[in-house]
Amino acid sequence: MSASPLPSVFGLTLDDWIEWMQERGQPKFRAKQIVEWLYQKRVSSFEEMTNLSRELRQLLTEHFSFGALPVVRVTGSEDSTRKYLFRLHDGRLIETVRIPANVNFAGDRSPRITLCISSQVGCAYDCKFCASGLAGFTRNLEAAEIVGQVLAVERETGEPVRNIVFMGMGEPLANLTRLTKALEILNADWGVNIGARHMTVSTSGLAPQIEKLSKLPMQIRLAISLHGATDEVREKIMPVNKKYSITRLFEALETWRDVKKQKITFEYILIEGVNDSLEQAEVLAKRARGLNAKVNLIPYNTVEGLPWKRPDVPQQEAFLHTLERGGVKATLRREKGHDIDAACGQLRLQQETEEGIIVKEQG
Ligand code: SAH
Repeated sequence: MSASPLPSVFGLTLDDWIEWMQERGQPKFRAKQIVEWLYQKRVSSFEEMTNLSRELRQLLTEHFSFGALPVVRVTGSEDSTRKYLFRLHDGRLIETVRIPANVNFAGDRSPRITLCISSQVGCAYDCKFCASGLAGFTRNLEAAEIVGQVLAVERETGEPVRNIVFMGMGEPLANLTRLTKALEILNADWGVNIGARHMTVSTSGLAPQIEKLSKLPMQIRLAISLHGATDEVREKIMPVNKKYSITRLFEALETWRDVKKQKITFEYILIEGVNDSLEQAEVLAKRARGLNAKVNLIPYNTVEGLPWKRPDVPQQEAFLHTLERGGVKATLRREKGHDIDAACGQLRLQQETEEGIIVKEQG
């Protein structure tokens, strides 16, 4: 498990390849040939790139690795939610969740696959309800490791991924430069070719980074993990709110809305006795209406070792109806993957040992 000394081919954009070729006195079209081999033909070595000279292939081999993510374990069944555990070049493990059809952020109901991908190993934001932050933060994922999750699942299933949500492990906006590069490769027609509107970046609310991301010309979607309608409630469960208050967050969201002219989604997990009161629903309705945002209510998924639980169904529905009466488009989500610990907030930091794969201890 030694660290790979060479950068992976899946972290370069077409422009990066062009620059690389030009620096070596190679014609520009070589770059196009490379991305064709990588993303259309999906080869797994430079050897297979038969329209490149032997010398060039040799040169590429000296500078890059293929860095495909090996699958350590797949949990779940063919036609339902499946969870992939991948090993990175330094031995760290990350998870990706493949969700078939109907739970779909792009709003369509065709039999399409959504992939929930990770952006970091662990997470530094310490949301009190989430399993991903329990063992803290280890490192950012490289752009190639973000793209690699999609490629590995497509290779394994033989089906293209049509939707991506950055709702796996990590805070994508804390890894903005690499996230942006990955989005470019995933979206490009020379690359993985996933429509920008079919990619949703979810954040715990890093206001300045939301403003930065709004400048990206791509029409990606934004989801906010809100989980509290007032600072008082949100602060208790999301420490990030002490840094960026709801007022500051909404300033950034107004920028996003003005630039992107698209609906923002609020994620709101319902936790019994914490944020599920109808007073919170009233405030949430007012805030969401002000931004013309929609709300996804998610009954809390239990996390071993954490005391929280979801409210009963009548309370969930009362919360939903309060939002609807307040003029807000809202849905109450039926989770997929709860049983295999693949649902939101259930992705934990894991470690490979001689005894097998273990969940990393807290702290
Ligand atoms: N850090 C980003 C990306 C992770 S998204 C963000 O916070 O948006 C993971 C989603 O799952 C978030 O909406 C998170 O709040 C939610 N979540 C975390 N723990 C959960 C749990 N136990 N049950 C249901 N949803 C949970």
